[in-house]
This record gives sequence, structure tokens and C-alpha cells, in this order.
Amino acid sequence: MVGYPCNENFDYSELLPFLEFHTNNVGDPFGSSNFGANTFEIEREVLEIFAKFTQAPSDEFWGYVTTGGTEGNMYGLYLARELYPDGIVYYSEETHYSVAKSLRVLRTRSVMIKSQQNGEIDYEDLFETLRIHRDSPAIIFANVGTTMKGAVDDVGRLRAMLRELRVAKSYIHVDAALSGMILPFVEEPGAWNFSAGADSISISGHKMLGSPLPSGILLAKKSYVDRIARSVEYVGALDTTLSGSRSAFSPLILWYALKRLGETGLRENVRHCIELAQYATVELEKRKIPAWRNHNSITVIFPRPSESVIRKWQIAPYKDIGHMITMPHVTKNLVDQFIQDYLRTPPHAQVSCPLLSPGVRSISTRSSSNEKDSR
Ligand SMILES: *Cc1c(COP(=O)(O)O)cnc(C)c1O
Repeated sequence: MVGYPCNENFDYSELLPFLEFHTNNVGDPFGSSNFGANTFEIEREVLEIFAKFTQAPSDEFWGYVTTGGTEGNMYGLYLARELYPDGIVYYSEETHYSVAKSLRVLRTRSVMIKSQQNGEIDYEDLFETLRIHRDSPAIIFANVGTTMKGAVDDVGRLRAMLRELRVAKSYIHVDAALSGMILPFVEEPGAWNFSAGADSISISGHKMLGSPLPSGILLAKKSYVDRIARSVEYVGALDTTLSGSRSAFSPLILWYALKRLGETGLRENVRHCIELAQYATVELEKRKIPAWRNHNSITVIFPRPSESVIRKWQIAPYKDIGHMITMPHVTKNLVDQFIQDYLRTPPHAQVSCPLLSPGVRSISTRSSSNEKDSR
């Protein structure tokens, strides 16, 4: 597995005894619950750690452990929509496929904004579109690590744009599914988190951290959540979360991973992943494959491989491109094996260039003798 951002380096066997109980984190993790067998305390500890990584205001944040990045993104949009019912959501074309669905569910007005070739939002297109709708509240859905290209939208720049246009009511949600656990551990992370002006952030739990079960973390400014909280007598808890019954096991997994690795281990993981992404890029380039990646990204983009390579290595293809994501379980040896396979079976689609980065010129570089193998 080198195509999807799932870290396969983990061992949670010490947590097995907890599977002998029905545990449930129904309701708000910062409240109380009638259901005693919960892991609220552990969940709060996990949220505090993530709040630190995302520079959330220490006594003014709220959050919960979700089912994954998708739920966290939907929650951010839900909060924004509740605050500004007549707001317009702006999201780039490289946004995760699930967001269009969430927008349909929420019945929120939305406008899709162009993306640049590297996957980052097109700031000029956004600026012009915002200007036209200056009288409506602006809800910006920012990507911190796009799914296909690992591109990071500059949240500081988005905030500055809203100020410049004098948009009175605005909200920025940050989808940091993968990069939310990369950027806290690099030298130059750029402006992406609460300190840069985010109002809520969603991160996947099973991506960088690694987990046998999907999960996610949603963090938001507390004052927003207070406005939508409703108390429910039946469960004796505040119904602030999207789902009712929630996994009490997922917070244990996240807590275990965070404590076992510690900040040093997390930083070491990220260093390994970025180094390996650079290694993969260089090795592909040496063989005349126009591979590239965004700054601080562990996603390496290359021309779409053959169907057999896609299947064998679990590559997520999109039109003319494919990518490899060098997660913590990926090794140099695995990268080398992948490249060998990639070269043996040339891409089955002849690739045109518009989806590749501006720096990339041509990609029909393979010798014609190899082309016979392509299907
Ligand atoms: C993976 C991903 C999601 C969805 O997260 P899930 O945890 O699979 O629900 C959303 N946005 C981006 C950018 C992603 O990479």
C-alpha cells in the first residue's frame, strides 16, 4: 500500500482488553453523561494535544473525536451554516469529493473556485468571486493538504483577503485530513491553523497517526458551539456532536498512539516521510519520469501508472495522474520496488500535461519499445 494515506505502522494489542466491554461516548466529551462506560477523560486529553498542535486558543476551543475527516468537515460547515444561514461556501475544485455531498445535505449555497496547477486554491479567482458577493457572509473551505496533490491553501492569505474586501461576516474551516499531522512538525509550516485565522479544523485519525479503525478529530472555537448546544435528557448529555453514539475505543487508539510516539516520535515520523517523498521524487526524475511534490508534502505525483500497477500498489488515480504517499510504513526498498514495476509497465493512458505542475514539461519519456506492453 503506497497509494492511500494510511499509516500501517502500529500495534494496539495492549488495548485488546477494552474490547470486552460495550463502551460509548454518546454526547459532548466536555459534558457529563448518563452512560458511565465512556472514555470522555481520555478523549479530552486527545483533544488537548491536538489543540496544542493546531495552536487553538487554550481555554476557548471545543472538539470531539469523529468517525473521520469527512464528519469533521461536515461539522465545520454545519457550524458555519448555523452561524450564517445565508452564507456562501467557497471551495476549490481540488477539494475532497465528500464536501460536495455535505453541502447538498446542508443545503448551503456554494461556489466552486478554480485551483492552481499545484492544487492550491486560485487566490485571484477567489478574490474576484468574494468581491461580487461581498454582501453575503463568506464561508471558506480551505484545504491543508489536498487529496490528490497535497497542496496547502494559505489561511493567512485567505484571512487577509476577507479583511481587504471588508467582508463583515466570515468563517474559515480547514480540512487538514492528512497535513494536520505533518505541519505541526516541520520547520516552515506556513499559515494554516487557528493562529492564522481558522475557525474550525478537521484532521483524520487513521491517516498519519495510524489506526486499524477510521477516526478523526474536529476542533472548533468554543463560542460557536455554545450557540448550537442542546441538552438532551435521555442521555443526560449535551447533543453537540453530529452522531449520537460515538466510539469510545477510537479515543483510546489516538491517545495510545500520541503517548507512545510523543512529540519526538511524531516529528521523527514526519521527517522520515518527507525524506522518503523527496527520495521517490528524485529517483523517478532520474528515470525521466516527471514526478513532483508540494512543499512539506509527502504526496508524490506522477503520470498515471498502468492498471496493473494501480491494482498492485493501491494507487489512487485521477484522470492523467497518480500519486504515491510515503506514509511511515513505506521504506526505501518499497519505493524502489514500486519504481521498478512502474517502469516495467508504462502508463496505459497517454498523458497530456494540464494536470501536471507548471514546472513539468513533457512526460512521454518512455522508450517506444516499452510501449508495446501497455494495455
Ligand atoms: C482523506 C481526506 C478526507 C476524508 O477523510 P476521511 O477520514 O476518509 O473521512 C477529507 N479531505 C481530505 C483532504 C482527505 O485527504
